[in-house]
Amino acid sequence: SLKLNNVTKSFQDVKVIDGVDIEVGDNEFLVLLGPSGCGKSTILRMIAGLETVSGGSIHLGGRRVDELPPSERDMAFVFQSYALYPHMTVRRNIAFPLIMRQFRWWYHLPVVGGYFKRRIENSSDVREKVERTADMLALTKMLDRYPRTLSGGQRQRVALGRAMVRQPSAFLMDEPLSNLDAKLRTAMRAEITQLHRDVGGNFVYVTHDQIEAMTMGTRIALLRDGKLQQFGTPREIYERPANTYVARFIGTPP
Ligand code: ATP
Ligand code: MG
Repeated sequence: SLKLNNVTKSFQDVKVIDGVDIEVGDNEFLVLLGPSGCGKSTILRMIAGLETVSGGSIHLGGRRVDELPPSERDMAFVFQSYALYPHMTVRRNIAFPLIMRQFRWWYHLPVVGGYFKRRIENSSDVREKVERTADMLALTKMLDRYPRTLSGGQRQRVALGRAMVRQPSAFLMDEPLSNLDAKLRTAMRAEITQLHRDVGGNFVYVTHDQIEAMTMGTRIALLRDGKLQQFGTPREIYERPANTYVARFIGTPP
């Protein structure tokens, strides 16, 4: 479960998130929806721990996380611009979080570091996790290729794979499809929905696209100027918009 309790965020003296309350159970697909500048990314970044909260609290799986560093929150984050490591194969890009978990200062030593990276990458535990992830995302045939040889959608799947491989209990995505063309975007929507069905856990997905929200979300939080306008299932929001702003944004017929 994921719970935001009266969460507030100010930058300098400007309040950009104002008393947001959201609560979703395990295995919900939560969409943060709203126009540019309404505060979607800021909320996601506070959940991830990349931004502190100015007030309120955040709980994940019953545990208060808003004061924990990002690495202790058991979450994975996929950004809008999915930065893969160009000099690493798909296999190592996906394995990277697992490799990092076992590395310390010697990571950057050219010879020793390379030796240990290969050792960790080839350990049966890491191989198995990477291969299971690749299988789920239809990347098995591409494991030994480099990112520059992949299409945009394939790269996006590698970025998802890298986030999934640690089996986090929450999966945070900030407009992950905005760099893709319309056709690929439709296909990837379906893949992410399927991924959620397959792996479960709390998904939080940021978009300004109401169609994406309505088709992917099990719960939608619609924001305006840092304030929550409505929180509910796609159906509730469509059939019973809380105000005219919601109705217009969603396109409910009057
Ligand atoms: P978009 O759809 O354009 O990505 P968004 O809903 O993700 O928009 P945020 O990035 O969360 O919006 O920004 C919300 C508000 O907070 C904006 O007015 C923005 O200018 C402001 N803001 C975000 N980060 C900072 C910062 N580090 N310092 C000051 N203001 C910020
Ligand atoms: Mg944003």
